[in-house]
Amino acid sequence: MSALIAYMRGSGTELSGKVTAFPASPISLSMSRALAILKDVFGYHAFRGRQAEIIDHVADGGDSLVLMPTGGGKSLCYQIPALLRQRAGQGTGIVVSPLIALMQDQVAALTEAGVHAAVLNSTLTSAEASAVERDLLAGRIEILYVAPERLMTPRFLDLLERARVGLFAIDEAHCVSQWGHDFRPEYIQLSVLHERFPSVPRIALTATADAVTRDEIIERLALDEAQVFISSFDRPNIRYRIVEKDNARQQLLAFIKAEHMGTGGSHDSGIVYCLSRKKVEETASWLASHGIRALGYHAGMDAQVRQHHQARFREEEGIVMVATIAFGMGIDKPDVRFVAHLDLPKSMEGYYQETGRAGRDGLPANAWMAYGLGDVVQQKRMIDESEADDAHKRVSSSKLDALLGLCETPGCRRVRILAYFEESAEPCGNCDTCLEPPATWDGTREAQMALSCVYRTAQASRVHFGATHLIDVLRGNASEKVRQWGHDKVSTFGIGADRSVSDWHAIFRQLIAHGLLVIDHGGHGALLLGDSARAVLKGEQSITLRRQVSKPARGGDRAARGSRTDHTADMDIDTLANWEALRRWRTEAAREHGVPAYVIFHDATLAELARSAPDTLGALAEVPGIGASKLERYGDDILETLRAVS
Ligand code: ADP
Ligand code: ZN
Repeated sequence: MSALIAYMRGSGTELSGKVTAFPASPISLSMSRALAILKDVFGYHAFRGRQAEIIDHVADGGDSLVLMPTGGGKSLCYQIPALLRQRAGQGTGIVVSPLIALMQDQVAALTEAGVHAAVLNSTLTSAEASAVERDLLAGRIEILYVAPERLMTPRFLDLLERARVGLFAIDEAHCVSQWGHDFRPEYIQLSVLHERFPSVPRIALTATADAVTRDEIIERLALDEAQVFISSFDRPNIRYRIVEKDNARQQLLAFIKAEHMGTGGSHDSGIVYCLSRKKVEETASWLASHGIRALGYHAGMDAQVRQHHQARFREEEGIVMVATIAFGMGIDKPDVRFVAHLDLPKSMEGYYQETGRAGRDGLPANAWMAYGLGDVVQQKRMIDESEADDAHKRVSSSKLDALLGLCETPGCRRVRILAYFEESAEPCGNCDTCLEPPATWDGTREAQMALSCVYRTAQASRVHFGATHLIDVLRGNASEKVRQWGHDKVSTFGIGADRSVSDWHAIFRQLIAHGLLVIDHGGHGALLLGDSARAVLKGEQSITLRRQVSKPARGGDRAARGSRTDHTADMDIDTLANWEALRRWRTEAAREHGVPAYVIFHDATLAELARSAPDTLGALAEVPGIGASKLERYGDDILETLRAVS
């Protein structure tokens, strides 16, 4: 089996031919059926990553826990076994999911693909719900999505006992974790499934990586016998970039314009995260006044407006959602091309989860963040002012430090991120520091100046000061505050006059990231000497700093152009005409069917159609993403649309 799996990991198209020419192979019957479903229903040619192993295990009746990053392809891991088992008479696949919008999208997509799928949640009328229940009892449903609170009612559990259940899939399984941010009390009760239906296999899935959450899922869902499948958490299609903040709004606009503008003023879908509600609103309207279709989203907004914005983001193309982290779970939109942070998140977990919403479809996407010293001070203040106990504050601080380390690293960002999740990696070639390695310089002397300035001013005044004031002292700027404290008399006054304010900011940030300076508790950004500062001051340790990246020329510099995610970037004129005609057709079809455009076809499928311009149904069927049902439903329309172009 394993040789076969390794074999099946090969790239798509070459594989489909080989598998059919592989009759005497050790391929199990269930695996060849799984491949047939992959092709016929979903239109794909090969399994990705560990999908084949997982599907084999689940279809065979084993329990499993699947940890896979967002966009890794978790859905197929339960959808295909569900279909295999249902078609073998073993019963309906029941999928538990906490997210109504996501369930609806999945059911819409499965229905488009010709699967008998249904959903049971609070949006249904009781007549609709009864109809679904009747279909379930009659064995007419292949995959049923159920909200956990519905599933756990005694009535529904009784109903399940009268129906045939082929498997339980528990999506977003980290919702059982009481310490996580997505805790759902109903999830705790899901262990009942195992007690009442001991012979039905269960598959729990999550994109949350850490070991604590993993153990908690195993314990709470009684999955001790389950096989655990851990995939790499790398998201190779996401390009990470962290820039120094210098008028962040302008930088954001320049970034969107340089990398996410398409032809004719349209732009990609993206998410911009801000910390405060006020900033969300200001940024959204400012972007809108600069020609970006931006909408706001935060918890303080009128619920209806918020929902309306979310629906538009989901259904329309090219909307930029400016949001607080309240805009989080349930964003299943596969074609989010960028996630931008105008404020520093709280932790690496937060950063990775938020940026992970870009590029679920596997196509190139950008994670872009503007950060400055003010962000660190602000986050630190939020920690200090929170109600949490000291132990919790310490954990929060160290999480923030890890993120700071990422911002200031001269090495590969991806290596740093993955290391945080205990995964080792090679420099990726797809982050800012890999693409344009920052120069480093020996900053020992400047570090000594800064550290001794911290020491001298504190010694003179018996209180500690923040970076802005310290920089004034270093540069010999006799501001009112400097004179007031008599800091124009300390020995470090003016010793760093040959460096600019922004140079000094960069130096201070890095000293904090290296732990040589520590931000004081108490919320005003005052800096104290860290434990290791002594060795530097005494000249026992030298310090290498990262040179500030000079600001790129406005608009499309070389690096920017290289990372364009616009599908049209390298299309010739004929392909472009096809693409535009297909997009118009897709918008129309989506409207007719009442589903988001990506439920009809993903951009990648559309781009491939535009490029290869198939002129027969047979050729059309070879394009990844076109299964039998979609071929039947849309094949003729597509051929006609393409013919009308030429
Ligand atoms: P997750 O739930 O892990 O975030 P999804 O199940 O939504 O990921 O899959 C992400 C995308 O990858 C979807 O667009 C899906 O159609 C696509 N995908 C999944 N498996 C394959 C495969 N074997 N070949 C091609 N595309 C795939
Ligand atoms: Zn890299």
